[in-house]
Amino acid sequence: MADCSSIRRFKDAADYTKNFIVRDEINKYLPGGKHFIDDALINRLIAETDGQAPDPVRVREIVAKAESTCETLLPEETAVLMQVTDPALFEEMRAAADRIKHKVYDNRIVMFAPLYMSNLCVNGCKYCGFREGNALQKRRVLTMDELKEELDVLAGRIGHKRLIAVYGEHPTTSTEYIAETIETCYARKVPAPRTGKLNSIRRVNVNAAPLPVADLKVLRSVGIGTFQVFQETYNRKLYESMHPAWSVKGDYDWRTTCFHRCLEAGVDDVGFGVLYGLCDWRYELLATVLHARDLERWFNIGPHTLSFPRLEPASGTRVPEESPWLIDDATFARILVIARLSVPYTGIIVTARESPASRDRVLDHGMTQLDCSSNIAIKGYSDFADEAHQEKERQQFMLGDNRSIDEMVRTLAARGVITSFCTAGYRCGRTGGCIMDALKTGREGKFCKINAVLTFREWLDDFASEETRAIGGRLIEKELAEIKDWLPKFYPTVLKQYEATCRGARDLFF
Ligand code: SAM
Ligand code: SF4
Repeated sequence: MADCSSIRRFKDAADYTKNFIVRDEINKYLPGGKHFIDDALINRLIAETDGQAPDPVRVREIVAKAESTCETLLPEETAVLMQVTDPALFEEMRAAADRIKHKVYDNRIVMFAPLYMSNLCVNGCKYCGFREGNALQKRRVLTMDELKEELDVLAGRIGHKRLIAVYGEHPTTSTEYIAETIETCYARKVPAPRTGKLNSIRRVNVNAAPLPVADLKVLRSVGIGTFQVFQETYNRKLYESMHPAWSVKGDYDWRTTCFHRCLEAGVDDVGFGVLYGLCDWRYELLATVLHARDLERWFNIGPHTLSFPRLEPASGTRVPEESPWLIDDATFARILVIARLSVPYTGIIVTARESPASRDRVLDHGMTQLDCSSNIAIKGYSDFADEAHQEKERQQFMLGDNRSIDEMVRTLAARGVITSFCTAGYRCGRTGGCIMDALKTGREGKFCKINAVLTFREWLDDFASEETRAIGGRLIEKELAEIKDWLPKFYPTVLKQYEATCRGARDLFF
């Protein structure tokens, strides 16, 4: 059990809303009251570059810089990339984004699953089905026994090893609850259907509301993976129009300084995100660059991942249909490429909010992580026999891609992409600052390839259909040959671990 003696407790939702934010933990990171999201700079860059065709020579220089250094671009450089509309020049950018992805992450896609723990919420975000006061939403908080039932499906039937655990913001689901759910996830071991080998969740990432430093230290103590908080929009005015001033979430500065507190607390894998469709995408990308650069300035660590959720239909709101800033699939694809070039070392997550066509389209646009067989209804995995079943009143929004993990793994393998279930990084201390250099120089990609092969073998043997196992097996042969070429001296050690995995050993990693 986590030691929660250092964290504050709140008697009810009103007490929580009034007292949760720790003002000193905001001010510390906004010295002189100046915010690192420089609204004037962003607006100036958008105005200066609006509608102008950029000089292709300058575009190529910026792309070459991103590719060779893997360092975060300047906002002025990102602004130039945003001007590109010429299809041939954009294709050069896309190809470079794909090459950078391969340099940093190799030819793998990391697989994860969302797991919603609760839909109680004290906030009033206008686009979200969970918001306080939405009478259509059926409210529920998973008990630890119910959570185990969900884990039995996720780890026992589907074969997941990596979760993003998601929570509304409410004193009932305080940090103590979050810590207990993480511990429950790690402790559950479930036999796999084909081999009977025990599978378990080995990395729990969290998507929750911003927390104070003391609470983040508790999550660190129970082995949190990445802490994800989506900014929704960086545009303060629009942010304030979507998040009522009476709510905790209405405090823009508390949310924007959240990752500074994470890094101070030693939670050093942090996941950014913008809810695309709320504001001009160009504003969001420029602000993302400013946010990453400010974290790098303070801590020498940037975002471990960027997520790209788009507004989806949700219960009791028309914002997802009526926002003036909704984007089409082509713009979504463009955003991913510019993001990959602008923050070259980061992981890029594209969730099952997207349609299958939109996800397939961006597989070679620099993305690195996706979820499949996802169900975001509270207790949806164990309650619904059909994994693709959705109920608007039990979930935050509707998913676009209901494909099963088996189908997706097969589709990826046919394109020469290996699905990785690796969770080694944070268990070997390869997080935060320790991983930044390894990512930028491509060293981490090598470890990842080996661990991808080992975990892919596990998943194929424990969970895959015959057809998927066959195509996956052929891909592994190719991967092993590549590893032998790269690391001839180390290869016998890799092969030993691989053969042990084939014989039934589990959770071997480098
Ligand atoms: N409640 C916490 C918070 O807001 O920070 C945790 C995250 S919330 C459960 C998960 C994320 O879902 C939100 O940050 C938001 O970006 C996204 N979301 C909310 N409503 C959405 C919608 N209608 N369509 C797509 N994504 C949505
Ligand atoms: Fe609550 Fe998060 Fe939904 Fe806002 S986005 S209403 S904070 S669950």
